[in-house]
Amino acid sequence: MFQKPAVPVIAIEEHYWDPELTKHYTGPEAARGGEMDEKLYDLGALRLQAMDEAGIDVQVISHGAPSTQKLPADIAVELTRAVNDRLAKVCAANPRRFAAFCALPTADPAACAEELERAVTTLGCKGAMIHGMANGEFLDLKKFWPIYARAEKLDVPLYFHPSLPHPKVTEIYLQDYAKDFPLVVRPAWGFTVETATQAIRLVLSGVFDTHPNLKIILGHFGETLPFLLWRIDSALKRPGQKPMSFRDIFTKNFYLTTSGFFSDPALICCAMEMGVDRILFAVDWPFVADNKPAIAWMKHAPLADADKAKILSGNAKRLLKL
Ligand code: ZN
Repeated sequence: MFQKPAVPVIAIEEHYWDPELTKHYTGPEAARGGEMDEKLYDLGALRLQAMDEAGIDVQVISHGAPSTQKLPADIAVELTRAVNDRLAKVCAANPRRFAAFCALPTADPAACAEELERAVTTLGCKGAMIHGMANGEFLDLKKFWPIYARAEKLDVPLYFHPSLPHPKVTEIYLQDYAKDFPLVVRPAWGFTVETATQAIRLVLSGVFDTHPNLKIILGHFGETLPFLLWRIDSALKRPGQKPMSFRDIFTKNFYLTTSGFFSDPALICCAMEMGVDRILFAVDWPFVADNKPAIAWMKHAPLADADKAKILSGNAKRLLKL
């Protein structure tokens, strides 16, 4: 018999689709059809029922990948504003159950900073979600730094979420197996490599020297980086590298979530490298079809109840000021 948790639960990587935005999706990003689409387009009864069945009190909702990041510059800004306005309206109508990470029009980096500020101060968004490359460009490039400056000023986190790897990466590294194992390009490996690379490049870019209070959230238990932290840090301290402590930055500026990764060994590794104060609960609904297994896993996870309470909602309340 499924038991709901005794403490409040806030899930922070939960997705939806905006019907006006997804009209612009083509190829592998287009609608998948069926039950998945039904859940993605729902911001009401279906979503709330799935939350209630599992005992999830609040969803922090964000658009699914690639969100607004492949839009051409001439429509990106206006369309992103409309997308954020619509999501904020849903949250305002049900503020006890829904909060939001806004989308950003990355085709126009200066406009991103303005939209982030508008979304946080006017619409009440808790930060922004960024999905992989912006029209084929890495997000650590200096042109995107206005986003980081504004996020630091507003004291809101940016959630670095996976998206499909660059088509050339898929072609060279994964295409041979993509027919028999289509998900090798997605959560089984491609998403992880793409997002971990974004995070490593962001650290190497020096953005955290300029913006020491910038906060980045990574899903999927940090996209392997907590497991690799010792090796990355020690390699980058060998002779011939610019002086820098990857470990210091990663453990101070980054937060992790449990999205789509309900594993005790992964949880223990992250708790040991990062501390439980930096781990936040997430499901990745509806890409993970059911909320209940995530909750059931947390119930039996090998941590003290006080630590589980932090992960299930305490850390999110603090980081997102909920
Ligand atoms: Zn996700």
